[in-house]
Amino acid sequence: MSVAPKPPRFVPRDPLTLHPETRLVHGGTTRSPFGETSEALFLTQGFVYDDAESCEARFKGEDPGFVYSRYSNPTTAMFEERMALLEGAEAARATASGMAAVNAALLCQLSAGDHVLAARALFGSCRWILEDFLPRFGVETTLIDGGDLDAWKAGVKPNTKILFLESPTNPTLDLIDIAAVAEIAHTAGARLVVDNVFATPLLQHPFELGADVVVYSTTKHVDGQGRCLGGVILSSKQFVTDHLQTFLRQTGPSISPFNAWIMLKGLETLALRVERMQASAGKVADALAALPGVEKVIYPGRADHPQAELAKRQMKGGGTLVTFVVKDGKAGAFRFANTLRLIRISNNLGDAKSLITHPATTTHQRFTPETRAEMGISDGLLRLSVGLEHADDLIADLTGAAEAL
Ligand SMILES: *Cc1c(COP(=O)(O)O)cnc(C)c1O
Repeated sequence: MSVAPKPPRFVPRDPLTLHPETRLVHGGTTRSPFGETSEALFLTQGFVYDDAESCEARFKGEDPGFVYSRYSNPTTAMFEERMALLEGAEAARATASGMAAVNAALLCQLSAGDHVLAARALFGSCRWILEDFLPRFGVETTLIDGGDLDAWKAGVKPNTKILFLESPTNPTLDLIDIAAVAEIAHTAGARLVVDNVFATPLLQHPFELGADVVVYSTTKHVDGQGRCLGGVILSSKQFVTDHLQTFLRQTGPSISPFNAWIMLKGLETLALRVERMQASAGKVADALAALPGVEKVIYPGRADHPQAELAKRQMKGGGTLVTFVVKDGKAGAFRFANTLRLIRISNNLGDAKSLITHPATTTHQRFTPETRAEMGISDGLLRLSVGLEHADDLIADLTGAAEAL
């Protein structure tokens, strides 16, 4: 095989003036000497060197190439760069799952004696990290009602390092005023970490609202076709240098280059998919509200959402998830879910396939009924992730299920 042994040509960073859709297709692409059209998948643990001197220089950081795939990998780096460009962040680091991203984003900057203040309505595993895990290592945590700005202000202590939130929340789609919480964090000398999974990077820009670190489970909309787990942490370069880089290198929650490649290719169609899913979610939410037996519909894009104003200010649309409450509690919710033909029962979200979840018996079953009530998760509540099917087919499916109520 004859290939000129020239070093890989790194495409210059795309100007952020390009539209997000364009950044999603071209951002971060680095071509090998073969000049492939599609981004290459570098399934390699390590890298070889022409001589011992080059190896030494690489390890010393004098030569900027790759050293080991636990540290970085060309395919993973392309995915990270594309995410950073999409988000308008200085830096991104990919991880094996969304939880690896959340865990690393928190642990890399915490020490015993620190305090974390967080909104109570969090993804189940995030809540476990805060409530059960961090206290084992002397990190104090407080959970509050994220919608109550006075509770954020009152909850800050001299040793508060991090404020942490998710908006919209899972599964009740409550919103938290990110800009207001960012201000409280910065006044207190703390950082704001935002889990932006439900909003997607296209519909909400936490950095513009003042967040310091943004995390994603890319298992959701970024893959979008239910194939791989993945996560990403976005931040300033300074945060990576001061906290994240060493933590990730030494503890090893790295993403497989194969999964990073899937995510990278998923990004190319992200805007198209999210736009379509959101348009269908709006139609589905309106249709659900008119169905007999559906007691309540929660969708941030509807005028009857309690925080419709904040949704308009902070998000570009209502998102791709719709939550609703059916009559007859758990029995009604189970009958509804079991009657669906097209929409499948599953706890994933952001997928091409529409998926329905009963949070009280799945993602939130470990909480006591009282805690669930406090979180607004009633037994009749169902969370629907709207996929890429035709909206009319989804509405017909939901209408059939409502008849079974
Ligand atoms: C799914 C999810 C996570 C965890 O992501 P994994 O990829 O499953 O580890 C964290 N936060 C939110 C909001 C999620 O939806």
